[in-house]
Amino acid sequence: MTTTGHSDSSLAQLRERLSWPEPKPLSLVSFTIAGVQDFLAAARTTRDIWNGSYLVSYLTFRGTKALLEGISREAGRAPEDVFRWVLMPDVSCQPLVQHWVGKPVSGDLRVANFPNSVLAVVPVGKEEGAKLAGIAEEAVETAWGEILTRCEEELTKRELLSSEFAQLQWDYQTPFDRVFELYWCVLEIPEEKDFVERLRPILAGAPGSPNSYAMLIEAGGRVLGSRKMLRDFAQIGQEGDRCSLCGARTALADYAMEPRTKHRDRGRSVQLRHGSLTDYWKGVHKRFPHRFHRSEHLCAVCLVRRLAPLYYFPDKVFRQDKQEIQFPSTGTLCTASAVADLVKAAQENPALLGPMQRFLKTLKEATAVEPSIPFQGPMLPYFEQFDGPLREFAKTDGDWFYLDHYNAISLAREYGISEEEARRRFPENLAATLKAELRKLAQEFQPSNYFCLIRADGDHMGEWICGRMKPGAFNPEWHANLSAALARFAERIRPRLECQIPGKLVYAGGDDLLAFVPRERVLDAIQAIDQVFGETAGVVAPSLTVSMGCILARHNDPLSAAMKDSDSLLKDEAKEKFGRKAFAIRRTTGGGEVTGMPVRWREPEPLEMLKPLEMLLAIYQAMADRVKTDRYGLSARIVPHLDQLKDGLTEWENMSKELSKTQREMLVHATGRHFTPNSNLSKEDRDMHTQKLQGTVGGLYDMLAEWRQVLSEGRPEGAPLPPNPFVAVQNLLTTLRFLTREGR
Ligand SMILES: [Zn+2]
Repeated sequence: MTTTGHSDSSLAQLRERLSWPEPKPLSLVSFTIAGVQDFLAAARTTRDIWNGSYLVSYLTFRGTKALLEGISREAGRAPEDVFRWVLMPDVSCQPLVQHWVGKPVSGDLRVANFPNSVLAVVPVGKEEGAKLAGIAEEAVETAWGEILTRCEEELTKRELLSSEFAQLQWDYQTPFDRVFELYWCVLEIPEEKDFVERLRPILAGAPGSPNSYAMLIEAGGRVLGSRKMLRDFAQIGQEGDRCSLCGARTALADYAMEPRTKHRDRGRSVQLRHGSLTDYWKGVHKRFPHRFHRSEHLCAVCLVRRLAPLYYFPDKVFRQDKQEIQFPSTGTLCTASAVADLVKAAQENPALLGPMQRFLKTLKEATAVEPSIPFQGPMLPYFEQFDGPLREFAKTDGDWFYLDHYNAISLAREYGISEEEARRRFPENLAATLKAELRKLAQEFQPSNYFCLIRADGDHMGEWICGRMKPGAFNPEWHANLSAALARFAERIRPRLECQIPGKLVYAGGDDLLAFVPRERVLDAIQAIDQVFGETAGVVAPSLTVSMGCILARHNDPLSAAMKDSDSLLKDEAKEKFGRKAFAIRRTTGGGEVTGMPVRWREPEPLEMLKPLEMLLAIYQAMADRVKTDRYGLSARIVPHLDQLKDGLTEWENMSKELSKTQREMLVHATGRHFTPNSNLSKEDRDMHTQKLQGTVGGLYDMLAEWRQVLSEGRPEGAPLPPNPFVAVQNLLTTLRFLTREGR
């Protein structure tokens, strides 16, 4: 550890950046809202995930705002002039901060942009610093309290908290520290002369830091880390049925309460009757039409997550246009790619408008009858570029494009009408009619059942932010540049995922990202994330890379499991097993095997060599062509064919050169056999296309073989490795087949 004799200028640089010379006091403050994983994962739909993310992001913003106001007061400067006192994230690029100080908002206020950890310097000593951190904590709790009050008003108005038991549950479940864990710590920045001596105890055992500033950041992280370990967060147990979303708390109900005389533990008892739970929730459904699924019984906290976007955020964040903020539904995300294809085709071929408009008109009439049923949902930003009937069509909630949505039993369950009523209103299956009419016009309309949840974050981020990955350059300015670059990543990835692809960003803050895209566009999204990360973060830290975990979920899968899976897919597979700068992908149901590969390899690539993702995209395109045209492209039959060949070829663990050569030849041969070039092309071009695709598959094999070789070197005995390259190619082709909607 190089903690002796630091006489670098990094601390002086920090003071200079802040115009805060010695001996004025200076402290490092960090705070974080931890334990949010469970809060975010308690989700049935894409909307729930967004609701949770947005809420946590907003709460961190309110804490940061209070901290900025405190710094501004203590330093005697305007809030806009103390932005750089926050080291991470770069608050000047935060839409909520821009909105607060009245600057033009550069991003989208509807995307959760605030990371749940904040690191700042404050112009005071330790004691005063603790006061400022305490004020930030209070501000977070106040914001939570405001949200609760607003939701409580709506519930009270509808007499949903009128029973003693429901009110007790509400009061018991919602206090801030029963829901969140907030930690903060303050570290006074010692004067240069005794800096090292003072930090030594905190940094005991740490690897060396390049300079004083890096030591300071590392020490701050350690102090906060030890605070986190001190507290133990207990889940709340209580009497009654569990919440159907989080399972951690009991579902609100108006159970009768009677005094309990014999029991030694409690003064009262609860009469648990299933009837009161279902009756209570029938009341909720009636008073908040179409806001909850029929089968849902929620706890107070999950209820607040649902109601906040409807009743709190519109007034608080979107004062101008008081629309409720809602996130596109899971069905809308799944069907987005098919809808986008259709809308684009209709732009070229107005004949397609006929069936689309008939569909809309009939649906509008059937749903308008009292009690009305919602049929439009929040539109995906991608469709903003269209207008007139195309835009109207794109506003339709994706569920209405599914054939099985028109089943009378499910309509009755979903919208609280009787089955007879459902049959009367929907005598025909509108989705089936639409599909059939479009087919007559030679237009396929095949909405997907799946969407993809993508999680990404920067590799070795902890090491980067305390300077160990770039010791020569690490100083306050570089650190600020990195924060700004990450903010630019969040800002620039949004149009890529939302305007070029019909996807939706849930969260992008710091190096973390969570997004949903239709399954047909997964590879495009992976490529966009890698590219934009390279163009932003990569400019400041050229070897900083990003890894991704992608879960393909069915539109009616409960999302809690998918959220948790995506986390382990990112950390255990893409990062640990695949060695980072990689993606891992898996389906929630059927064919659960994890596939994946590097997103970057051997850079800079030799000119003639395609990049890993480009190779995969080229093969995907060939498969998609075949599905679309049924005439040319790569047939999905290559997958079972390779499956037959696999057994004889992958038995030996130690690959000989000959075996490897045979494997590669088999792949190239199978590609040629299952690829049909476009018959409109000249013989020369047809041969060229076939050879090109064979070359791409061969190139993919070579890259995967090299990858496995590199990963196996220096890996402990028995540690998991990506599969044999032949199997890896086959697994990737299986995934591609799935992404092209073959074999649904
Ligand atoms: Zn709950």
